[in-house]
Amino acid sequence: MQLKGKEIKVVVIGAGIGGLTVAALLARKGFSVSVLESQTYPGGCAATFEHNGYRFDAGATVGCGFHKKGPLALLGEELCISWPIVSCPAAWDFIHGDRVIRLSHSRQEVLREFPGSISFWEEQGRLASFLWSLATEALPWPPSGMDELGALFRKTFRKAPVLSPMLPFANKTALQWLASYGLDTDSDFVRFIDAQLLISVQTTAQYANAVNAVIALDLPSKGTHRLTGGIGSVAEKLAAAVGDYGGRVLYGRAVQSLEYNGRRVLSATTADGACYPADIVVANLTPDSLACLFGENDSPAARIKKGPAPEWSAFVLYLGVEESAFNERPISHVQIIRESGDLGEGNSIFVSVSPSDDSLRAPEGFRAVTVSTHSRPEPWFEARAAGKEVYSKRKESYTTRVMSLLSQHFNGMEQKVRMVSAATPVTWERYTGRRQGYVGGYPQTSLFNVRGPGTPVRNLFLTSDSVFPGQSLPGVVTGARRVAELVERRFG
Ligand SMILES: Cc1cc2nc3c(=O)[nH]c(=O)nc-3n(C[C@H](O)[C@H](O)[C@H](O)COP(=O)(O)OP(=O)(O)OC[C@H]3O[C@@H](n4cnc5c(N)ncnc54)[C@H](O)[C@@H]3O)c2cc1C
Repeated sequence: MQLKGKEIKVVVIGAGIGGLTVAALLARKGFSVSVLESQTYPGGCAATFEHNGYRFDAGATVGCGFHKKGPLALLGEELCISWPIVSCPAAWDFIHGDRVIRLSHSRQEVLREFPGSISFWEEQGRLASFLWSLATEALPWPPSGMDELGALFRKTFRKAPVLSPMLPFANKTALQWLASYGLDTDSDFVRFIDAQLLISVQTTAQYANAVNAVIALDLPSKGTHRLTGGIGSVAEKLAAAVGDYGGRVLYGRAVQSLEYNGRRVLSATTADGACYPADIVVANLTPDSLACLFGENDSPAARIKKGPAPEWSAFVLYLGVEESAFNERPISHVQIIRESGDLGEGNSIFVSVSPSDDSLRAPEGFRAVTVSTHSRPEPWFEARAAGKEVYSKRKESYTTRVMSLLSQHFNGMEQKVRMVSAATPVTWERYTGRRQGYVGGYPQTSLFNVRGPGTPVRNLFLTSDSVFPGQSLPGVVTGARRVAELVERRFG
């Protein structure tokens, strides 16, 4: 791809799923692409890292979007990537007190536990199939200019029959939607829905937008996959594709500043002082982290920050566990919810266990386990500011709290744990460069207060779970595809 006879240089900051997807798609189109990644491995929140002989999934663990015509399946076809996936017979077990529900393609157990919800799920399934078909279009929402407005019109015009059934839901909350079926007063059902929504749209039914909830609640029934070697294989495959199409991914290159001439970004400079000239910069960052790369007097910084604010970070335990601990419950993922109390902060945990047949993940006879719970970042940073002792005490108390909930449902777990390591919001900030360790994008409460990839600077774009349609592998890939289309339309 050439600009006035010269190749067009694209610098992508960050080798998360968003950055790598844009990089691979643009490299395939002939742009000259360099990805600068601060860590020594790709993937960010969806990385798999090595520690003490284990390969732990850092954050994301459930492979979503690989189903037929799903965003990752389509991306794989386009980039000629063969994903190392194995289809899971069930997505995860939901445990709340004595209630155990296996979430699977058929929803059989959900309907058994909540027989009054059949009509609700019928409507959810119908609407979700409309939404998945829209996801393949990578709708340019909200449009970032006249060109995207035209593209939005063309794409939605074709899909008008698909969009019209969604309109009554656009301004509803998920709880109002449940109320239309009389389900909002069934506290067990609401807790079940809240638990699903918190992990997928970062908020509960009272606040979640109904359209976002439709697709979030569909993930188990669409079918999930596991990745051989861990979820990080997705990023590894994408990084390899960038190389195959003539681009490069450079590790250990933390971008510290962007040089800006009042109109456009000229280059990115890394911590080692190297300068990477750019015609186009794509930031796989949160808006706050991107704003930090501008000088104090540069005007874009404040404007970049506008938009929906993130709320959550995560507390995560990485455990090396004897495999006999899982004999009674042989499933890869379990969501455990305490009887009462607000979700998150150790009251709800998501447990992911490496498969017994994946020898890449753990020494023989052991499993690599990731246990996560939503946690607000502010108290963690206050604890760190108060000193090492305060911070360590908080970390120990969260570790104990999470381990006790885990042990209630896995007999003898505490005796079978051989290795424990913990990540707090402070750790997330250090490893992903996401300021304050905010992960999981923004709470999906509105379809209208969302951020697109455009910025106040014409040649600078954002791609990440901070950008519509938000978090998860399929969400981020859908958003990234739209960025690649936008760049190509404007500069190709
Ligand atoms: C605990 C947890 C569980 C989750 N579970 C799931 C799940 O099961 N399934 C699912 O689909 N999704 C899940 N998600 C969400 C999913 O992981 C994210 O939405 C997605 O991975 C975010 O991708 P991203 O493109 O926004 O980039 P990020 O993952 O944020 O990656 C950004 C990259 O940029 C790099 N970087 C940052 N600053 C700089 C800089 N200055 N210079 C150079 N490089 C830099 C970082 O090192 C990182 O590699 C989970 C997330 C978390 C935190």
